[in-house]
Amino acid sequence: MTVIPQLDAVIIGGGIAGLWLANLLHGRGDRVALLEAEQLGCGQTLASQGIIHGGLKYALGGSLTSASQAIAGMPERWRDCLNGTGDVDLRGLTPLAAENLLFADGSGLGRFRTFFASRALRGRLRRLEPQFWPEALKGCSGWVYALNDLVIDTPALVERLARPQAERIYQHPFQADQATAIDDGWLLQLGEQRVQTQYLLLCAGTGNEGLLSGLGIDQLQMQRRPLRQVIVRSKRLKPLYGHCLTGISRPEPRLTITSHPDGNGWLWYLGGQLAGDGVNLDDAALIQHARSELTICLPWLDFSDAQLSILDIDRAEAAHHGQRPDQAFAKRQGSTIVCWPTKLSLTPDLGDRVLALLPKPSQHDLQDVPLKLPPAQSGLLRWSR
Ligand SMILES: Cc1cc2nc3c(=O)[nH]c(=O)nc-3n(C[C@H](O)[C@H](O)[C@H](O)COP(=O)(O)OP(=O)(O)OC[C@H]3O[C@@H](n4cnc5c(N)ncnc54)[C@H](O)[C@@H]3O)c2cc1C
Repeated sequence: MTVIPQLDAVIIGGGIAGLWLANLLHGRGDRVALLEAEQLGCGQTLASQGIIHGGLKYALGGSLTSASQAIAGMPERWRDCLNGTGDVDLRGLTPLAAENLLFADGSGLGRFRTFFASRALRGRLRRLEPQFWPEALKGCSGWVYALNDLVIDTPALVERLARPQAERIYQHPFQADQATAIDDGWLLQLGEQRVQTQYLLLCAGTGNEGLLSGLGIDQLQMQRRPLRQVIVRSKRLKPLYGHCLTGISRPEPRLTITSHPDGNGWLWYLGGQLAGDGVNLDDAALIQHARSELTICLPWLDFSDAQLSILDIDRAEAAHHGQRPDQAFAKRQGSTIVCWPTKLSLTPDLGDRVLALLPKPSQHDLQDVPLKLPPAQSGLLRWSR
């Protein structure tokens, strides 16, 4: 008689959510397997800007909103992980930047005077004197503040989380019709093999939508919020991590710039208002708008030789009337837990929520249960594919 392998949790999706939870659950003694349809990180995770932030950009309107308070402790949680004292061991992962900047050209503090003077923000940001400005901001006639955020190299993050779990991570596009509900969890038909699991953790990003309807979980809905990020390539670029607030008329950074190694130099990856507004523009109009925004935000730099391209991607989140949700999302429906971290930054919050939904791991011998599936490989950054 064939023995059906028993697992505590099968995780669907190998982005930040799935990889983080695989580490967290295995670390506490659960028998886990992760199934990734394509390559690890290939969804939103390797398209993200990698900023681990404490939500101060949501407080630009002048008050600490519930969004900014929920996320405030996240950079510290990530730093603990980087130091080996957090929920998940990220030692050896070096951030691309240890802080992120807020800057504006050609003006006094203006409407941000109250924001920067707020007592609640003390310890979370500090003014930088010009001698400490990065090369890319030398020439700015305004001000620069440093936030206690950090910027993570997302391919290195994916590798770091995948490495200790390599024997439990498989390449397999999971479909709802591969699952049959049983008394104590799910029976899964994975290729030739049958596997039993107590819990199914849906961490498939946009893929959760189809899995939810396939599994008959209609109460939980997903929303997509599209972005049109812009990639800037030029030999002249120097690394810069920051939000530009020059002349903004609504409380959202005009440009959010992160820098990523590209051949022998750097490329800039642009988000912020530009990427949201870009959804209403065609390609040519967005490229023209991006050039104009670069010139307004960084007029001391020459972008004449820069090549610009566009990366279209949807954010996948729990439905929240089309608005940005404030927190990570984890809801249990029988033996299924549906997860959306909402932000890379909020992944530790997602971990807390999932642990609160699961019973303590059962006492068993933590021997791996190898599945007859190929291993999943790490994906490439979206712009290098
Ligand atoms: C342009 C952009 C910039 C961002 N910048 C930031 C930032 O700077 N800071 C921040 O905090 N957050 C940021 N975010 C948000 C953050 O990237 C996401 O919240 C996070 O990456 C979502 O992770 P995830 O694991 O839920 O989903 P994903 O990374 O999308 O992973 C889902 C995985 O599931 C797999 N999958 C799908 N269907 C199946 C299936 N049927 N079977 C098996 N596997 C399946 C996919 O292949 C994919 O690998 C950004 C998002 C975008 C789009």
